[in-house]
Amino acid sequence: MPAKNMDEIVALCKRRGFIFQSSEIYGGLQGTYDFGPLGVELKNNLKNAWWEAMVYENDNIEGLDSSILTNPLVLKYSGHEETFSDPMVDCKSCNLRFREDQVPDHCKKEDLTEPRQFNLMFKTSVGPLEDGSNYAYLRPETAQQIFTNFKNVLDSTSKPIPFGIAQIGKAFRNEITPRNFIFRVREFEQMELEYFVMPGEDEDAHESWVQKRLDWWSNQGVPIKSIELYDVPTDELAHYSKKTVDLMYKFPHGLEELEGIANRTDFDLGSHSKKQDELKISSNVKKNKHSNSKMAVKNDSGDWIVPYVIEPSAGVERGFLAILNEAYTNEELEGGKNRIVLRLKPHLSPVKAAVIPLKKNNKDIVNTAKEIKDDLQKIGLGRIILENTGNIGKSYRKHDEIGTPLCITVDFDTLNDNSVTLRDRDSMNQTRLQVKELAMYIKDLIKK
Ligand code: ATP
Repeated sequence: MPAKNMDEIVALCKRRGFIFQSSEIYGGLQGTYDFGPLGVELKNNLKNAWWEAMVYENDNIEGLDSSILTNPLVLKYSGHEETFSDPMVDCKSCNLRFREDQVPDHCKKEDLTEPRQFNLMFKTSVGPLEDGSNYAYLRPETAQQIFTNFKNVLDSTSKPIPFGIAQIGKAFRNEITPRNFIFRVREFEQMELEYFVMPGEDEDAHESWVQKRLDWWSNQGVPIKSIELYDVPTDELAHYSKKTVDLMYKFPHGLEELEGIANRTDFDLGSHSKKQDELKISSNVKKNKHSNSKMAVKNDSGDWIVPYVIEPSAGVERGFLAILNEAYTNEELEGGKNRIVLRLKPHLSPVKAAVIPLKKNNKDIVNTAKEIKDDLQKIGLGRIILENTGNIGKSYRKHDEIGTPLCITVDFDTLNDNSVTLRDRDSMNQTRLQVKELAMYIKDLIKK
């Protein structure tokens, strides 16, 4: 049985230390969450899996880590100052504000005000003066600094088109109604690739990235069958997009966007370019009087061409939630008992293996277990922990719930024959293995 509702997942996250409400002791801050000891591991593993698939497995994709504070001109020319807004309505009966498409059933239509546009960007003052003259935005997407660094990366790496720039980092949106746990928050992380291609090659590249992203999610434990493709209709497309396909996942609260894959055309690079009349460029780019860079490449006939860009953009929090939802299983055991088990893909598991001494106070057993933990930790396969509670059953239950794929029990026999008991999370099968074979065993287990 998968999780029945969001409450079960929220409860598990709090109980085991995946996610906490931010600023909780002061009543929280709406739309913000903190990742606890296990949450930070799972989140890092997810981001690493994305980074490896993007940057390490593709020689024509490079990484970037740009600043969050953004010069307002970047977001003026990107179109965000003008158009990055949602329609907001007030309910005169309950005095609450909602995004127009998210008004709850209990508000009557006649009580709602006319929708007004509300810009979602956070603005902050820069430097000691607070008179509003020096301000910056917290980036609403990581993408813009990829575009502004296009020339820097291109010139420093000498890559021919097609090539991509990948970035993982925080983005901020002043959502009108943050909700559904970490699904819609005001501070979140994005994993974004901007993949630059020559005009004319964009449609094939777009199709191919949709497929690649489905395969990647499947490798993270979100199978293709649980994702629906939504071809965003023209009137709902973002201002920069020629075509967008959203990967829609059935979250506990409903079918919603997990990742968007957009064909952003030459809009961004074109809008950030100087001397636009020297470029072959689409008509809807913004006229620019501030940029000092030409975001273009020369083609074989010596013309300056502004590349098109395909953008797969995924939210880390939404991925985290989908992965937990898929992995969460409430399993009935023989004898009427049940267990909660997180069937995470082992490469995502916060803890790769728990080494458990059979006797809490037996020095020889505990020291041997410690040595095994230290040796396995050094190999760099992820987090291995020593779990010395003295209660094997309780340790197994805990590690089932947090998705640890393997428990390694050290007992009296280990002291004589150097073997340990392995207990598999999913099958609950137990086998014996020589200590010297453990590293290889775990390596195989967590292979993607
Ligand atoms: P939505 O329609 O749900 O508001 P969006 O279309 O505005 O999302 P994009 O601009 O395409 O989202 O952003 C790319 C990705 O960033 C989304 O697919 C999502 O995973 C993530 N994301 C966007 N907004 C949020 C948010 N408020 N909280 C968490 N993740 C978000």
